[in-house]
Amino acid sequence: MKIRIIDLLKTTTYNINVSVNGWVRTHRQSKNISFIAINDGSTVHNLQIVAEHEKIKKDFLKLVTTGSAIRVDGMFVLSTGNQQHGEIIAQNIVLYGTADPQEYPLQKKEHSLDFLRNIAHLRMRTNIFGAIFRVRHNLAFAIHKYFHEKGFFYFNTPIITTSDAEGAGKLFEVTTGDNQDFFGVPANLTVSGQLEGELGALGLGAIYTFGPTFRAENSNTYRHLAEFWMVEPEMAFIDINDNMDLAEDFLKYVIRYAIETCESDLIFLNNTVNSGLIESLHSVVNNKFVRLPYSQAIEILKQSNREFEIPIVQGMDLSSEHERFLVEEYFCCPIIVTDYPKEIKAFYMKLNEDGKTVRAMDILFPQIGEIIGGSERESDYLKLRQRMEELGMNMKQLWWYLETRKFGTVPHAGFGLGFERLVLFVTGMSNIRDVIPFPRTPKNANF
Ligand code: ATP
Ligand code: MN
Repeated sequence: MKIRIIDLLKTTTYNINVSVNGWVRTHRQSKNISFIAINDGSTVHNLQIVAEHEKIKKDFLKLVTTGSAIRVDGMFVLSTGNQQHGEIIAQNIVLYGTADPQEYPLQKKEHSLDFLRNIAHLRMRTNIFGAIFRVRHNLAFAIHKYFHEKGFFYFNTPIITTSDAEGAGKLFEVTTGDNQDFFGVPANLTVSGQLEGELGALGLGAIYTFGPTFRAENSNTYRHLAEFWMVEPEMAFIDINDNMDLAEDFLKYVIRYAIETCESDLIFLNNTVNSGLIESLHSVVNNKFVRLPYSQAIEILKQSNREFEIPIVQGMDLSSEHERFLVEEYFCCPIIVTDYPKEIKAFYMKLNEDGKTVRAMDILFPQIGEIIGGSERESDYLKLRQRMEELGMNMKQLWWYLETRKFGTVPHAGFGLGFERLVLFVTGMSNIRDVIPFPRTPKNANF
């Protein structure tokens, strides 16, 4: 019976014949016997193989070094060692591929995350990156599960677009390089699926996108990538308060899902990279997020007497040091900041009665800062036009967007979650480059 290590380690049926595949993590030899630990990527736990030299020749075992790939056929037994767990007594070992110990970079010693980033093609074979990418998968699955169960439709927005409607960030242009615009107009990679997401919601009722987005952020920070995955739900017939309730419920749901399904990976990450991880996950799930308007956040920052790198003034955009002070030191829980000045937010956000602030909501998390940005959208045709005019935007280009406000407009709202920022929080890692398999950042698009 061919079986994955995660399933085998769950069984309590011993003395059965099984076949297991995996990569060798360690190989320790004593006089008559070899102990080989293998891992197949299904779990953070290794499986111990006992190879008696009587059955498996020593000359052959010389080739079974760290990094090589093998299949083991043998009897799964309860270990006789002092730890009570299962192991395999090998009958036969098949060597798929060797790994020269002089060359294979992942020998037993600890490696820095920096070093591992340079061998991103192999880092999935370490415990830490195995754990991270299993957690990433489970979070992605939980996101689809959550929205599906709530009646949202998965809606795919284009990756190549011809409008930088959002003004969300620097664009990557898409061109064939021969000076002729393939699409007849200049095109770029999308910075957000929101505008098209709104079109979906204003017909399907509630949709979400989950796809790659691109921003030529020319800054090297622990929380920015040039290519990242964004989750953008959008709902018709709801307002900013419903939107906040949904975002909070959603974040708690997916984090709870990870706590429940990724237990051994999270324990491993807690023990190796971030000793406060599990506690901070529980704390987010169990506490209500504090909601406060932007102006109040600014007051708190002003009165903190903190020397911030960027000094506090009304009207400014918050940077990560400000966000993290509010979340980690002042409130000690996630917060939702609302009602930002319209000048620092996008054109499509609904104007408040004061004529100065908009119905925006940013969710700020410990260690991460902004994890979600959202808003109620301006659904009034004339007000939206007026705002676009003030900003000198090209109305013709966005004729289709404006038409949704002309025909059967309704209150609607949504938000964008940076998927890697969520994975960053849930894994307790401290650099966003370590939570996406192949990060794209300034001067780096390897692999
Ligand atoms: P920031 O101020 O942190 O640069 P933003 O306000 O530009 O973010 P939004 O346009 O609101 O970001 O995008 C929605 C979400 O996408 C953000 O809340 C964040 O989680 C995520 N995000 C934005 N830019 C990046 C990036 N370069 N890399 C990874 N995630 C990002
Ligand atoms: Mn934002």
